[in-house]
Amino acid sequence: MIIDDQYYDLIIIGTGAGGGTLVHKLAPTGKKILVLERGETMPLEEQNRSNVDIFRKERYHAPEQWYDSAGEPFSPQTNYAVGGNTKIYGAALLRMRERDFETVTHQEGVSPEWCVKYADFEPYYTAAEQLYLVHGQSAIDPTEPPRSADYPYPAVAHDPCMQPVVDAIAEQGLHPVTMPLGLTRQQDDPTSDSEVCGLVPALKYDNVTLRTSARVVCLHTNPSGRVVKAVEAEIGGESYLFLGDIVVLACGAINSAALLLRSANDACPNGIANSSGLVGRNFMKHSLTAVVQLSTASNSGKFPRSVYIHDFYWGDENFSYPMGHIQNTGGLLQDVIFAESPPVLSVLAKVVPGFGLKQLATRSIGWWAQTEDLPNPNNRVRVENDKLYLEYTPNNVEAHDRLVYRWIEVLKAIESTQSIFQRSNIHPRGEAPLQVVANQCGTCRFGTDPATSVLDPYCRAHDLDNLYVVDGSFFPSNASVSPCLTIIANALRVGDHLIDRLK
Ligand SMILES: Cc1cc2nc3c(=O)[nH]c(=O)nc-3n(C[C@H](O)[C@H](O)[C@H](O)COP(=O)(O)OP(=O)(O)OC[C@H]3O[C@@H](n4cnc5c(N)ncnc54)[C@H](O)[C@@H]3O)c2cc1C
Repeated sequence: MIIDDQYYDLIIIGTGAGGGTLVHKLAPTGKKILVLERGETMPLEEQNRSNVDIFRKERYHAPEQWYDSAGEPFSPQTNYAVGGNTKIYGAALLRMRERDFETVTHQEGVSPEWCVKYADFEPYYTAAEQLYLVHGQSAIDPTEPPRSADYPYPAVAHDPCMQPVVDAIAEQGLHPVTMPLGLTRQQDDPTSDSEVCGLVPALKYDNVTLRTSARVVCLHTNPSGRVVKAVEAEIGGESYLFLGDIVVLACGAINSAALLLRSANDACPNGIANSSGLVGRNFMKHSLTAVVQLSTASNSGKFPRSVYIHDFYWGDENFSYPMGHIQNTGGLLQDVIFAESPPVLSVLAKVVPGFGLKQLATRSIGWWAQTEDLPNPNNRVRVENDKLYLEYTPNNVEAHDRLVYRWIEVLKAIESTQSIFQRSNIHPRGEAPLQVVANQCGTCRFGTDPATSVLDPYCRAHDLDNLYVVDGSFFPSNASVSPCLTIIANALRVGDHLIDRLK
């Protein structure tokens, strides 16, 4: 074991949306910060979404296996690299809605209240949109929450193939809204991410050190289990120990929970920070269905996602419970999550003979229907004999099915629609199942009560004075919008707290 000869004020583990943003916020404090990241910098050609080959579906999967509840192995769709999953994400950066922070009654249960409200998050959402260069358009969406500032950049025009579709949706009395997107507008790497917006500027400060290919395997505590004393990482086949005052986990909701569980010791036999027994539990990932609209018109197959629809977010005239969020996928030849659903195109290919899959992709417009799943303690990350198990049973399924059917009705009413196909990640027929963990969250929920939450309202572990978690783990519920902007805003919020603490 090599003991690093430096002592740090702060050690941040992971450089995705949470970690990359936090280091940017804290770098100007002059405090000595070590950032440990298990991945490497991604080559530019891998980052450029227009190169994504949807038929090479394993390309964005981690080179390791996790196990489902039956013990079957799978390779998770998650990205270990500087910038984490923001290097491959769709950069659709939406705020949660005001009501999402409150108790919301769903058909199948309750989505719990957050201990910090929309009004507390609002200034951080504004700062997050500025930091991640969000281009958007406010005031059309019926669910749009109040904003203290407009988007920093105007919305980008829809691809020519999308504009007539958007117009046809609006003609049905719905409110299609231009998607808020984090964009650098650089051709090689067009979307903003936590490496470009967070880490690269932070590394200009001498007090920040980044170690890559550094996989953290364990946190060591004092004998009572109440203070983290050291971080153990594997680098180049050697074990290293790093020492610091404050440790921040930002490994993503699944890996942060797994690390806490793997760090079990005599004082904390069930994992550290786990006196509540909730570490790893209440894992959420959204119900997600891909809907493909085969069109009479062709398109390039390579264009960004650009529109979302929230007319059914809180339900419709036939269903008084929340249903969820609709967005287009962007061109099917470059959508990374869509890579999990090529069987949709295979089904299409059988129905429309004479077309290759790629030709079909360029005649199609993809849509995602996304519905909040509810926290269930039995949906969980578990570690046994150092193997990571992910146990998940979908819930709130009728709300999701209704959203999908409702959306298909909207698409059918569009003149250019030839036919429609769907693939769901929650039904047995689905082909984008457990390994799609893009929107993972909830495994270390925050709250005021140590008996019912893992983290306090500033995302500090109730059980350990010097341990924080700033990735998607803290979500007590996950709304129907994607989580990334909320993770970024929260990292900025926790950053302000840490700046006060470090003074
Ligand atoms: C294909 C895809 C598309 C998406 N599109 C969108 C979108 O359009 N909008 C949206 O809001 N969200 C989207 N998401 C989700 C979004 O990317 C995540 O919500 C966000 O990146 C999560 O941030 P995080 O900080 O929790 O974790 P991550 O971004 O996953 O970062 C975790 C980091 O920790 C590192 N790490 C893990 N374990 C260790 C360890 N033991 N030691 C050291 N380092 C470790 C990882 O390498 C990684 O860098 C998408 C995700 C995917 C996969």
